[in-house]
Amino acid sequence: MDPFLVDAHLDLAYNALDLGRDLTLPLEALRQRDPHPDTPVVTLPSLREARVGIAFATLFVESRAGGLAAWEEALHAQLSLYEAWEGMGLVRLLREREDLLAHLERFPQDGTPGLVLLLEGAHPLPEPEALAPLRKRGLRLLSLTWATKNAYAGGNAEPGPLTAKGLALLKAMEDLGVALDLSHLADEALFPALEAYGGPVCATHANARALTPTPRHLSDEALKALAQRGGVLGLVPFSAFLDAGWKRGMERLPLAAFLRHKAHAEAILGPRGVGLGTDWDGGFGLEALPQGLDRHRDLWALGDEGFLGGNWLSWLLSWF
Ligand SMILES: [Zn+2]
Repeated sequence: MDPFLVDAHLDLAYNALDLGRDLTLPLEALRQRDPHPDTPVVTLPSLREARVGIAFATLFVESRAGGLAAWEEALHAQLSLYEAWEGMGLVRLLREREDLLAHLERFPQDGTPGLVLLLEGAHPLPEPEALAPLRKRGLRLLSLTWATKNAYAGGNAEPGPLTAKGLALLKAMEDLGVALDLSHLADEALFPALEAYGGPVCATHANARALTPTPRHLSDEALKALAQRGGVLGLVPFSAFLDAGWKRGMERLPLAAFLRHKAHAEAILGPRGVGLGTDWDGGFGLEALPQGLDRHRDLWALGDEGFLGGNWLSWLLSWF
């Protein structure tokens, strides 16, 4: 089969519903009409033109506003949008292994991107029991936190431990076949979570803390622990995540700034343990991407087949 791209982190429904972007448009058309200061990078046609075979698509609800009822409502609206796109034939939702295998047969013919659903932050779940109905509708990946601390664990911007409720959620994830995404998790929760959880582990969107020293990124110790579990790291080509000194309004960084994170991560995880998790349009736009990367099709210049998609696909096939 011809290789395809796998992008392990895209906030598609958030962009459509919370930012009001029509992601069914060609990228040029969205760029012409989008009122936000950040130039958009992603639409469904831009994924299709780039041969993105699989993307991990988030259910993401900002935790610093609203409360449980609002979060649950927003999460269900996002889930319904993904289902509506599926109904229109714009994407295929990969809920079960048979969906993934059928997608691998069909994608070379029809080029329809496959989406695996990822809950970014467990704060919209009132109880661990709320996971089962989401799993039925296709949820296969979960990060315990977004930036902030919640009832389950501490986050990168608001440290805190893994709680008893967090442990119960990890147990439910293991039972239901929902993988653990370590992104955004506070260090003090990360290592206990790895110990408690026996299922598949990854980090959908994080870089090397050794090169960008902030709690948002993974320490070498965490990368080693991820490697021991056969996990994959999704690297983020976003200038502020490549160099802690980069600020909004500065020149775009050279591509080398991204490639040094790739080299660092591959030295720890091996070349089979690193892939893409672009997080594009997840709170920043074209102005914040490294030079040479303006949309998904440009990613093809970056590396080998494994890094671009094969590593994530092998990881998925190992447990999905
Ligand atoms: Zn994120």
